[in-house]
Amino acid sequence: MKRLCNPCCPAGAVSSGAIGDAEEYRDGGTSTRGGDSSNDDQELGPLRVQPSSRTASGSGTTVYTDQASIPQNFVELGPDNPWLVCRSPAHGGKLFWLHRTTQETTWRQPLPRLMPLPKWSTVHAPMRETAFAVIDPIFYGAPADPIDPKARTGICGKQPLPAPLRKTCDTLSPEHQLYPKRFFDRVGIKRFVMCEDLKYNGQRRRDVPDLSSGTLYIDVGDRAVRRKRHSFHHELWHMVDYHLLGNAFESHDAEWCEHNPRGFNYGNGGKFMRTDSSSSQLSSSPSPEFLNRYSTSSIAEDKAEVWASLMCYQQVLKTPALQAKAALLKKRALNICSEMDERCVCARRVKMCVTLMGFHGFGLEHAQAGTGEEHE
Ligand SMILES: [Zn+2]
Repeated sequence: MKRLCNPCCPAGAVSSGAIGDAEEYRDGGTSTRGGDSSNDDQELGPLRVQPSSRTASGSGTTVYTDQASIPQNFVELGPDNPWLVCRSPAHGGKLFWLHRTTQETTWRQPLPRLMPLPKWSTVHAPMRETAFAVIDPIFYGAPADPIDPKARTGICGKQPLPAPLRKTCDTLSPEHQLYPKRFFDRVGIKRFVMCEDLKYNGQRRRDVPDLSSGTLYIDVGDRAVRRKRHSFHHELWHMVDYHLLGNAFESHDAEWCEHNPRGFNYGNGGKFMRTDSSSSQLSSSPSPEFLNRYSTSSIAEDKAEVWASLMCYQQVLKTPALQAKAALLKKRALNICSEMDERCVCARRVKMCVTLMGFHGFGLEHAQAGTGEEHE
């Protein structure tokens, strides 16, 4: 089966703090996180804008016509977009943005324009409160540079079509329901942004967590249902991990590594496995301590894979080491929010299975071995 993806997050890139993740990455990319580890304005310090050119135009208007007011090295995101963007030479081309009217500067990619989801009965209310659909026909962190095709473009995508949008929201609503609102609040997960043709710096992705803004971008395009579910939880754990460990989330974690083989060292990150089409298969596991080969690419991927399996199909966590790893993640989740009690999650899942099996086939395919046809 074709796999799209991977090199998830960590090894990759982050720009505005996005963690690009797994699955997608195989057909495309780096990731969005690790590389540019700095994710917020504090970490990178003050931004520099040529003082002489800080004259905003178009204040209060929709269309900005005063091209002369654009500071040196900045370009527009669009004629009706209040943000300008610059690739910082001092930070390897990392993007930062300047608001034309408020003069706010930030390393965090501004959100595209969003609309709430319709009040679909198949999407539970807490998800409708946190999930949005992009309404810009296209969006990006920076327009492509015709001179340098490799220059960063940040998180890019387009408005989702109604049918796949609804289908994906129906699919993910039961997954979202496994997390109490307080859990999302405590780890800084603020919103889910539904879009299509999602890319990170030109590389195709299926989901991109933007750590700095607490946003998980989700491509609603065609993908196996199981993969969407798996990926949702996988990416969420990266966001949790970032909340717990900050930029050290790729660093050694003694409590975790005691469940690895003696002397084991992780690889260079998920992105380096994107050509390995079988790395997400359970059969690719090199030893009982790992779910699959992809899990050996980085400690963050290992955790995210275990978490996704824990939330989707616990039966694949068969070995003592995998069960110990899962127990550790559960303990950490419980420390964040006591409502993430295992019994609670299981009860929610069982309840939803009973409720939803009829029209979603929910849970049935989870019984199949494998953590997803592609990585997340
Ligand atoms: Zn990942």
